[in-house]
Amino acid sequence: MFRAIKLEKDGDATKAAITEVDEADLPEGDVTVRVGYSTLNYKDGLAITGSGPVVRKWPMVPGVDFSGVVEQSDNPAFKVGDKVVLNGWGVGEGHWGGLAELARVKGDWLVPLHAPFTLRDAMIIGTAGYTAMLCVMALEDYGITPDKGDVLVTGAAGGVGSIAVAILSKLGYRVVAMTGRPEEAEFLKDLGAAEVIGRGGYSEQGRPLAKERWAAAVDVVGGHVLANVCASLKYRGAVAACGLAGGMALPATVAPFILRGVALLGVDSVMLPQADRIKAWKRMSTDLDPRLLDKLVDTVAFEDVIEAAGRLMNGTQRGRVVVPINTD
Ligand code: NAP
Repeated sequence: MFRAIKLEKDGDATKAAITEVDEADLPEGDVTVRVGYSTLNYKDGLAITGSGPVVRKWPMVPGVDFSGVVEQSDNPAFKVGDKVVLNGWGVGEGHWGGLAELARVKGDWLVPLHAPFTLRDAMIIGTAGYTAMLCVMALEDYGITPDKGDVLVTGAAGGVGSIAVAILSKLGYRVVAMTGRPEEAEFLKDLGAAEVIGRGGYSEQGRPLAKERWAAAVDVVGGHVLANVCASLKYRGAVAACGLAGGMALPATVAPFILRGVALLGVDSVMLPQADRIKAWKRMSTDLDPRLLDKLVDTVAFEDVIEAAGRLMNGTQRGRVVVPINTD
């Protein structure tokens, strides 16, 4: 038997509880991992609180990320004792996830733990951090360089946003962090933000074109915020869009695209091919200052995860959450 957070459907609601589960009930997979650490991403918050249609099979063990040690393997790429990381692939949505003492998955979904990171570091980073890196790489691929001007990061005090601030500033960009929480200004400056601004009018319907202000942006919010970011990008600027924390809609016009040649670069971390994942983890080992990881993290005990998911959903959780599970 092992402990897991289990989600059950109860009419329209989701019931979440810590439960003892039989190993025989683990889903199909060729690698069993003793989970060292997991984390809470926005998607896990949606799943655990039932605030969004994330779960596709019931009952579900949430947790889109985990790091741990291989306990049993029928996959030639992994042997007992290997340290591994899992991000995405629908784990925690359609396949049991990382908020449990054991996980069984396809070995093809795992990446080896990348030096110099520890199992704990890998979960401080988690899907949020690796997505932040993918956003930066998307901007670079488009041709954005630090000399082009200020880069805006929205939802900056959250998981993706805070790590995007840290990476971009280490790479020499002048980063402007947008947050609805002015009390987090010092935290964001410690991560490297040159300037911290409020959401201002960005959360409301804006004009099709606004003053050209940003060379580039990383947006985790969507909705009016993304529309206003597009409207205020400089000529041939770009925004890497990865989130919907403020809404799924995109109430924008084509004006910024056809009059300023700006680019909306979509970023998905969940189904990204393995080679690109390894590239992103490798980039993080040089472009994310490991000394910042402890500033970013809030440790939440396994027993308190369900309560912490509520904090994540009401926007009061700062940075990243790490959940120690088997840490011996
Ligand atoms: P998080 O830690 O909860 O951070 C989200 C941040 O967004 C909040 O801290 C808040 O920042 C801001 N925010 C929340 N509600 C808002 C609203 N109504 N209007 C404006 N800003 C709002 O979540 P996360 O893990 O960083 O994830 C952020 C988003 O990226 C989520 O939508 C998530 O689903 C998405 N995501 C996508 C991928 C992908 O593969 N595409 C991967 C990871 C995450 P401030 O308090 O600083 O304003």
